[in-house]
Amino acid sequence: MPTSARAKTAAPRTGGAELGNAPRASYGAQAGLARPGTPPAPRADGRPGRQTSIDTGPASTSPAKARKEKEQRKKKRAVAAEASRSEAKLLSIAPRSGPLSSPLKTLGKRLGPRLISALDKKGLRRMGDILFLLPRCYEDRRRLLTIAELEPGARGVTVGIVKVADFVPGKQGRRMFRAVVGDRSGSIAATYFNAGPWLKSRFTVGKRIVLSGEVRATMSGREMAHPEIEPAEDLDSAGSVHFNRIVPVYPGFERGEQRSFRELASRVGEQYAHELEDPLPPELRRRLELMPLPEALRFIHFPPDSADLEALDVHQSPAHRRLAFDELFFLQLGMALKRQGVKAELGIAFDVSPTRMDKARAALPFQLTGAQARVVEELARDMAREEPMNRLVQGDVGSGKTAVAMVAAMVALQAGYQVAVMAPTEILAEQHERNFRKVLGPLGFQVGLVSASGTAKAKRQVRDAVARGDIHLAVGTHALIQQDMSFDKLGLVVIDEQHRFGVLQRHSLMSKGPKPDVLVMTATPIPRTLAMTLYGDLDLSIIDQLPPGRTPINTRVFNDKQRARVYESIASELAKGHQAYVVYPLVEESEKLDLEDATRGVEKLRVAFPQAKVGLLHGRMKAEEKDAVMEDFREKRLDVLVCTTVVEVGVDVPNASVMVVEAAERFGLSQLHQLRGRVGRGAAASYCYLVASSARSWESTERLSVMEASSDGFVIAEKDLEIRGPGEFLGTRQSGLPELAVANLARDGDLLSMAQAEARRILARDPDMKSPEHQGLVKALEERWEGRLALARVG
Ligand code: ADP
Ligand code: MG
Repeated sequence: MPTSARAKTAAPRTGGAELGNAPRASYGAQAGLARPGTPPAPRADGRPGRQTSIDTGPASTSPAKARKEKEQRKKKRAVAAEASRSEAKLLSIAPRSGPLSSPLKTLGKRLGPRLISALDKKGLRRMGDILFLLPRCYEDRRRLLTIAELEPGARGVTVGIVKVADFVPGKQGRRMFRAVVGDRSGSIAATYFNAGPWLKSRFTVGKRIVLSGEVRATMSGREMAHPEIEPAEDLDSAGSVHFNRIVPVYPGFERGEQRSFRELASRVGEQYAHELEDPLPPELRRRLELMPLPEALRFIHFPPDSADLEALDVHQSPAHRRLAFDELFFLQLGMALKRQGVKAELGIAFDVSPTRMDKARAALPFQLTGAQARVVEELARDMAREEPMNRLVQGDVGSGKTAVAMVAAMVALQAGYQVAVMAPTEILAEQHERNFRKVLGPLGFQVGLVSASGTAKAKRQVRDAVARGDIHLAVGTHALIQQDMSFDKLGLVVIDEQHRFGVLQRHSLMSKGPKPDVLVMTATPIPRTLAMTLYGDLDLSIIDQLPPGRTPINTRVFNDKQRARVYESIASELAKGHQAYVVYPLVEESEKLDLEDATRGVEKLRVAFPQAKVGLLHGRMKAEEKDAVMEDFREKRLDVLVCTTVVEVGVDVPNASVMVVEAAERFGLSQLHQLRGRVGRGAAASYCYLVASSARSWESTERLSVMEASSDGFVIAEKDLEIRGPGEFLGTRQSGLPELAVANLARDGDLLSMAQAEARRILARDPDMKSPEHQGLVKALEERWEGRLALARVG
């Protein structure tokens, strides 16, 4: 069992001596909880705890402001609660063997065939599936309120007898269903708009039902709009699973089915929860004060009366946190195993003697910043080791990642190895080629561009030169990882703007040579939690300082009706000899979206600035055309560059000082931050204008104001993640990020750090996972990660 598990999870295969080596834990040390100065974890209300650069204004706490903040917090909590409620979330960690894997049918005939088939349709077939289907929310039925006690404006649960129920004409001629339910203390109406005829059968006059929903006061008395209802059959029987307790509400079942499912969950919980083996070593569980797994599941389905209802509802109870830890821990353990596997393979030990390092640094046209120098040291240490480097350099836009890559490249080149530099766009690849050539050419190194465009012959010539080793440093887009590319002696792979490539591509380039060192760089700051999940197998270096002499970018949001003011500013910058970008979200006119496209924008700007030279750049142009336009802009033959998001990443023209983003509400925050990063690269003051539709939503306005308030990419990325969720944030699927059922990456940063530290700690002590106390882990890893871990270890 253990052996097969290890084989599946990228166990070290070669070099017996390396097996004993504890994996280095530099990332863990940086990200761990214990490190002083670690930013506080996101707070339970979902707002990031770190507020370093968001200017929250004067710290006055006027009552009005406090009230507003309180309201906002409340709203946010409601949104978070809604988000965790919306989907059916099935933890996919139900055991594949043992009693919990037995089919539901074995529970006996009390499970009607209709229920069984309904469950089957939802993919719930085994005992374990029932236990691991988590309630979406809870209802407080510890003490039911009498109808008189229901308070307008609050949620409430009550029981009453149906007095009347029928369809009545509603507003605007629509049909409405209205029932009146009463008890000894009074009565309340239940109303439903656009309801089907089935409702009537749920409100049988004379029957007792449970009503649950938000109470409001109306002209004709109190009512609940669209309350959830349930038959109240065994209200008086002692020990009922439906009453006198906090009651779970499950996702994907209508209210009528809730009762049967609740009964089922209770039976499975009682009979089977104790059969669950807790995979976490007891020592770890005790130290982190985590609930045992069976207890956590029982708690989640049927919380004790003392439980905190609000925490339950937002999936933050101690039991939920135990399950969230589980999810994150096994993710991190898989990553750590994989990372250890890479480390155990043999790579190249480069010479990083002071002479060589000095030579490399001296070739740069400027002095490294403190942060760059520190990261270079970290890279040098990695490169000197025989294990392959596998490091992520994260640095905000304009922090100077290219220079760091250049030093690393020179270390490899001086040792007689080739370097591959991969960029996500042709424009960026071409820019890198030019910059690397400027620095490396004088030292006698050949730099070549492997392009997807150009004639077949030209392309073949470059490919051959790379294969022969005549080109020492090859820059390219994904063309670099095509099948027909081969290197003579590849020693270092640099991947710029890593977030633009999928996990698969990263590994495919790594497999080009005999284990080259790998340096990946990302400018879209990825929140720490996501970086740890996506790149948990990498060591992390952070460039947290900008080169000297930068003035902060002045960012303003304008309505599209205020465009004249934006144009004024462009005019005044152009008069000073600077240049401007104007970015549009679309290339061609779209009938559906009333957006000005880039082509029309060019015409408009030419009219507005008759003296200026205005150029157009968009994704549908041929690579040669793009290069030519970019070249014109760089050489100041163009004053204004109208473009789509092709300039989003990497483009570096320091003389440009204005960035205008049209239809800004259509862009994500991180994307806006990237675009803004195209200016502010020189010493001159720079401006970023976000022009948004005056008809935008309130949410868009709030979102855009984050850009005005902060210039810290990490703060912005965290906001972005919080607003859009990890899937959308990353444009996922390609990222290989697993679905998490309980854990929430925008919120559970503290758990994630803990999970990573623990995973690495276990492997440091027991790299082969041989010790008896770890056998539960091995088994669980195998069950949970089968398939999913395969994606994470395509290398
Ligand atoms: P990014 O991290 O966004 O890729 P770049 O590597 O493109 O940033 O660098 C941004 C700009 O800063 C470039 O014009 C580069 O030449 C300049 N730069 C980088 N490092 C330094 C430094 N240490 N001193 C001065 N300028 C620097
Ligand atoms: Mg860059």
